[in-house]
Amino acid sequence: MPDDPRAAAEALFRDRVIWDDHAGFGPDPGVDLSRLRTWKDAGVDYLSIDVGYDVMDWRDAIKSLAAFRRWIVAAEGYRLVASVDEVREAKKAGDLAVTFDLEGMNALDGSLDMVELYHGLGVRQMLFAYNRNNLAGGGCHDEDTGLTAFGREVVAEMNRLGMVVDCSHTGHRTTMEAMEASAAPCVFSHSNARALKDHERNIRDDQARACAATGGVVGVVGIGIFLGDNDTSTAAMADHVDYYADLIGPEHVGVGLDWAFENDDGGGADLKDLNPDYWPRRQYDVPHVGCAHPRQIFELAEELFRRRYGAAEVAGIMGGNFMRVAEAVWR
Ligand SMILES: [Zn+2]
Repeated sequence: MPDDPRAAAEALFRDRVIWDDHAGFGPDPGVDLSRLRTWKDAGVDYLSIDVGYDVMDWRDAIKSLAAFRRWIVAAEGYRLVASVDEVREAKKAGDLAVTFDLEGMNALDGSLDMVELYHGLGVRQMLFAYNRNNLAGGGCHDEDTGLTAFGREVVAEMNRLGMVVDCSHTGHRTTMEAMEASAAPCVFSHSNARALKDHERNIRDDQARACAATGGVVGVVGIGIFLGDNDTSTAAMADHVDYYADLIGPEHVGVGLDWAFENDDGGGADLKDLNPDYWPRRQYDVPHVGCAHPRQIFELAEELFRRRYGAAEVAGIMGGNFMRVAEAVWR
């Protein structure tokens, strides 16, 4: 353990890219994006922002993407990036580097051509099915019927274009088939370990192992009911990092916090009161589901030093690992 874990974390945040692989705020054109400041203040250098998920109409995802692009391109201190070199340049300039992700292939409306359109607009990561089955595959809260022929075509198209295949929110069988089908590293952008917390949004050991075998990364998520009993402590996040590091190696672990501004406003989200088709009550029957705050990413680095991780390992978990995947995949 370094003599001073806090100083070690400070050096890491100064010298290395800090990467949050998924933001969870609602993809709505009306969102006040100046609140992205939260991540900058937390020392985060790169953030993947969700622009659409299966619960909403695909046309609304296009509108969110348009609004978010327009704001980020115009705003001082933020940068829409297309390469890892541009992420590094953004850090040097003190800017938050941003790309976009899509949570579910309903955003394609059944059209393979849409993958290239989204890629051209800055989407660098897409997952299959948001909790429920769709035209591409199975969701994690549904009777998973596997990767469809369309889903398989989309994987090939994502591989061709340079978009990261993300398996979070997706059913077990579909993820295993997708990782088998992909020619490039795959990720679980924000999925905790089911061995520590038995929730359907969490993933089993064979899924984490298969992800690592593609050269990919599993991102630990800050949502309390996926970490434990609505436990958003930094120690709970570190426990999931520990579990994955033992299972698949620290070089396959990252952070996809899933923080939403809504968490700041009300102290938590009442997911059980949303659409029960997508958030079944049996899985979300908790008042005020909490999420770890972006500032806890720094605390997590400190905690990992305290738990005797080496500097290179912590640097990888804090960003280097997801960055390695981006470097291999993005074009
Ligand atoms: Zn999500």
